Amino acid sequence: MTTKTLADWTSLAAELTIRTGLYIDGASVPARSGATFDSVNPATGSVIAAVSAGGAADVDLAVAAARRSFEGGAWSRSGIAERRRVLLRLAELIEENGAEFALLDSLDMGKLVNDALTVDVPSAVDLFRFYAEALDKIPGEIAPTAPGNLALVTREPLGVVAAVVPWNFPLDLAVWKLAPALAAGNSVVLKPAEQAPLSALLLAELATCAGLPDGVLNVVNGDGPTTGAALGRHMDVDVLAFTGSTATGKRFLSYAAESNMKQVWLECGGKSANIVFADSNLVEAAQHAAGGAFFNQGAVCSANSRVLVEASVAEEFTRLLVAEASAVTPGNPLDPASTLGAVVDEHHTKRVVGFIDRARSDATVATGGNRIDVDGRGCFVEPTVLTDVSGDAEIVRDEVFGPVVTVQTFADEEAAVRMANDSIYGLAASVWTDNLDRAHRVASQLRVGTVSVNCVDALGSTTPFGGFKQSGFGRDLSLHALDKYTGLKTTWLRLR
Ligand code: NAD
Repeated sequence: MTTKTLADWTSLAAELTIRTGLYIDGASVPARSGATFDSVNPATGSVIAAVSAGGAADVDLAVAAARRSFEGGAWSRSGIAERRRVLLRLAELIEENGAEFALLDSLDMGKLVNDALTVDVPSAVDLFRFYAEALDKIPGEIAPTAPGNLALVTREPLGVVAAVVPWNFPLDLAVWKLAPALAAGNSVVLKPAEQAPLSALLLAELATCAGLPDGVLNVVNGDGPTTGAALGRHMDVDVLAFTGSTATGKRFLSYAAESNMKQVWLECGGKSANIVFADSNLVEAAQHAAGGAFFNQGAVCSANSRVLVEASVAEEFTRLLVAEASAVTPGNPLDPASTLGAVVDEHHTKRVVGFIDRARSDATVATGGNRIDVDGRGCFVEPTVLTDVSGDAEIVRDEVFGPVVTVQTFADEEAAVRMANDSIYGLAASVWTDNLDRAHRVASQLRVGTVSVNCVDALGSTTPFGGFKQSGFGRDLSLHALDKYTGLKTTWLRLR
């Protein structure tokens, strides 16, 4: 638990060192073109820094540095004890610099600094530790073959991994890619989201301090259509690991097809259902439903943005949910008293409010629904609950990625499952029930990557995270993530 006050965070923010260069081959460098873009604090509208905007030439340099380091073998062919030592040291450095990471992400994209410090930073630390410690516990295989033969199956790093990530958990989602990719011995070029470019630059610098050889981790900031596309189309990138929207994910499949058929792994959008049965603890379910919908301003890919509640308890549950939502306090993200931060930027705020406004004609706004100011400025949206929505309404079908939750009712279990699965997405779902049989029965029928029972958005370093349908494929977290960053090699010996 942090004991820092608003005054503490404000003075720490004033002293913060902001890194703005690209990070290539172990050094901070400006973009070749000299171009920059502004990183803006959405809570205040003020410019934090002008950050180097990498173009195709910078991407070429970063990929070349990654390739050189991979071929050189200082990391890719190092012993696992060495890789473990460096990654554990990096975990320690992230922990020691936790307040700085939390502040950078909070200022950059509006999340509550306390959440960043108590959720994002520990999970990044934990993940580096998890993969570092896993390295000497994953044996290869000896495949069954005819007598007189010996077939070894080993995992090999794949080469240059490009990671393109979104803004909602800038540190964490970078680490979801970096930790397993680096542990496996690859070299990486990371492109953070242009809305939140800062924490990755600190991470890269600390990786060098921890002993990661130059060129093994490079960071190229810039926008999607320029920098992201240059990585997607690059002829010398072996693997493209992406987290972001479904629309952008589809583009990466095209980029790969147009270029070198690089492996593409997609973790995309969601519209996760939260199914509340009458036999559950409604008070607890409502508390968690609010948490699942409004945490991180609703900018969570697996946010429980569609509540489906059994008709017999819908009125009571909605009353409880509205009370929970009304108690959420938007405010300065650096103030420990705030329980909802700022929406990432002006453009996204307008998008979220647009969804709410279009829904008004055929839905009831039970609470919230408006853009608000904090201290007369900033991008803030009230926690919003919409009822009386129909299953084919835009607000029910499309990912809003803001603090907005819809409530629909169902008559029975079969209808609940049908409604939950009625989505192009399949990332996650929650089920609230005190009936164990029902919990298993429903979970087994949900077409999603994670089912949380009597909780929301359950995830951890040991469990795979990813989607079905247009939420993507491949899995982050857990030992399974290593599948994306390693290739299986067979070495077959005929014994003479
Ligand atoms: P986005 O798709 O707009 O951007 C993600 C990344 O792709 C950014 O780095 C961006 O610069 C880059 N990009 C954008 N357009 C591009 C283009 N034309 N070519 C190449 N690169 C491009 O997504 P966002 O708004 O940053 O993030 C929100 C989305 O991320 C939501 O849909 C959310 O559900 C999803 N998300 C998914 C997961 C998951 O694990 N499944 C986790 C977090 C977020």
